[in-house]
Amino acid sequence: MDCIFCKIINGDIPSTKVYEDELVYAFRDINPEAPVHVLIVPKLHIESVAHIDDSHHTLIGHIHSVAKQIAEENDISQSGYRLLTNIGKDGGQSVFHLHYHLLGGRQLKWPPG
Ligand code: AMP
Repeated sequence: MDCIFCKIINGDIPSTKVYEDELVYAFRDINPEAPVHVLIVPKLHIESVAHIDDSHHTLIGHIHSVAKQIAEENDISQSGYRLLTNIGKDGGQSVFHLHYHLLGGRQLKWPPG
């Protein structure tokens, strides 16, 4: 499958890993939008939230626990952070392998553009 995040997970494309287990791989975004910008990616290729089904519930819950852990390890737990996933064209998704952006280390704006 010609998927850049599958290639990163497999080690075919280099990345700066911050966390890995049997279900999830997390690495620093190549174009960071904040001092902490980590992408948390399931190893299973799922295109987006629009492609999740009931069999993925444990995986999605696990991603949230991993996000919490990475936030603590990056010292943004107290200051706050954002966990988001873009879905499809209007959502601004550019890589079609489900991923969660963990952003923090500065005051983030709301609403998004
Ligand atoms: P999205 O626009 O939500 O699909 O997010 C895709 C993210 O992947 C963007 O923030 C990109 O900067 C990031 N990205 C793309 N290629 C790489 C790469 N090779 N290593 C790390 N991050 C990447």
